[in-house]
Amino acid sequence: MSFMDKFKQGVVEAGSKAKTLVEINRIKLQNNSKKNEMEQQYQEIGKLVFDAAEEGRWPLPKEQFEQPINHILQLKWEIEQNLQLIQNLTDEKTCKSCGSRVSVNDRFCSKCGYTFEITQEPVQIMEEGSQLSENHNRDVNLPQDSDYKRKE
Ligand SMILES: [Zn+2]
Repeated sequence: MSFMDKFKQGVVEAGSKAKTLVEINRIKLQNNSKKNEMEQQYQEIGKLVFDAAEEGRWPLPKEQFEQPINHILQLKWEIEQNLQLIQNLTDEKTCKSCGSRVSVNDRFCSKCGYTFEITQEPVQIMEEGSQLSENHNRDVNLPQDSDYKRKE
């Protein structure tokens, strides 16, 4: 390889590295706004609960929570996908327990000692036995009425 070729290759590598950083920052920003959106949805749920309590309409039918809960689950999933994307762009992964960045090959988190699963299954949101729907949203199993009433 001539000097010029080596030089060119170096430029390309540096260029793609910068591109990767830009891409990662873009995804991180995206996740930040998704987290803000999640906060808004949490507030939405809180307001529903408060209004109902204030007006003596309690417990609320689960349908009332369906929209914000689905929205949060969707956002959670999208954030998870984005973290996966970042992970693919770097050689790092995020500790689910403490949020620190560790090498993909690490079996344990060097900060908190969390053990990483070997497989990279998406986080199980539902309780055991229930199936996640195909696209992970919309068709959410809300808690049963009995869960609201806490068994007389
Ligand atoms: Zn950790």
